[in-house]
Amino acid sequence: MTERIDGHTILIGLMAYPIRHSMSPTMHNNAFAKLGLNYAYLAFDVTAEKLPAAINALRTLDMRGSNISMPNKQKVIPLLDKLDPAAEMVGAVNTIVNDDGVLTGYTTDGIGFMKALDDEGIDIRGHKMTLAGAGGAGTAIAVQAALDGVSELSIFNLHDAEWDNAVRNVKLINERTDCHATLHALEDRDDFKAEIQDSFIYTDSTGVGMKPLEGQTLIDDPSWFRKDLVVFDTVYAPRMTKLMAVAQAAGVEHVFNGLGMMLEQGAAAFKLWTGEDMPVDYIHQILF
Ligand code: NAD
Repeated sequence: MTERIDGHTILIGLMAYPIRHSMSPTMHNNAFAKLGLNYAYLAFDVTAEKLPAAINALRTLDMRGSNISMPNKQKVIPLLDKLDPAAEMVGAVNTIVNDDGVLTGYTTDGIGFMKALDDEGIDIRGHKMTLAGAGGAGTAIAVQAALDGVSELSIFNLHDAEWDNAVRNVKLINERTDCHATLHALEDRDDFKAEIQDSFIYTDSTGVGMKPLEGQTLIDDPSWFRKDLVVFDTVYAPRMTKLMAVAQAAGVEHVFNGLGMMLEQGAAAFKLWTGEDMPVDYIHQILF
């Protein structure tokens, strides 16, 4: 690190709270070192109260940008100059790019999801996806999939705090994209099963399967899955969720956890800041 840092080093931040557990600094700094790029990526404890001052500091110090995580993903929007169309539709930002004092907000989770599938040779454009969950990850996935050409989206959510968000997502997707989105109650098991069986891909973005719901799954009956269905769980810890195990027991060939999405959302931010492709395979080896 001391060999790399000098008077010209460009700073990129990560502003969230709590954030010290994040893998992003390791990911980005190793990628900078591997490619010989003179950047440094640091995590900063930034609460919602400190966010305006932190964004001012980003401008004052001429930082190249920052990642943004909870609790700041929505609160940061009024502090920026521009929003990428996907970030505007999602209503959240996880990446800021500073171009000569103009701050633009992006969301890269949905890009990461689509790229992770591309990396596996799976193209869901023109096909139907059933998606469980309409929280942060589910919204980003739904919007990017719709923008990228997924033809039909059946979104399932419980009648919980995220239901209104799901209503909003479906309305926006139908108004602004060519994708036909519908909202369904996760409580209706027959409808849930029928929509999955009519889909090319089933994606779970609920977090059921990770702590504190590790070992649980929304679907425990392998007969719900066709062998040629694609099954994607956004969870990456544990690496094998109960949902994935059920899908494998059903003989599903293409079953994925959220690791590829996590790496590719970082790679998308890396590209926005540096213009370079992150060495994703190398970073995968280092982190896992
Ligand atoms: P969130 O809290 O914003 O949304 C959670 C969603 O799951 C909501 O729609 C909620 O209604 C639903 N939900 C919660 N508990 C449920 C239950 N018991 N049964 C059915 N539905 C339930 O969370 P988030 O930020 O969207 O994260 C969701 C998951 O996605 C987490 O596991 C997170 O780790 C993962 N994630 C992965 C990546 C990645 O890069 N792989 C990125 C972001 C999030």
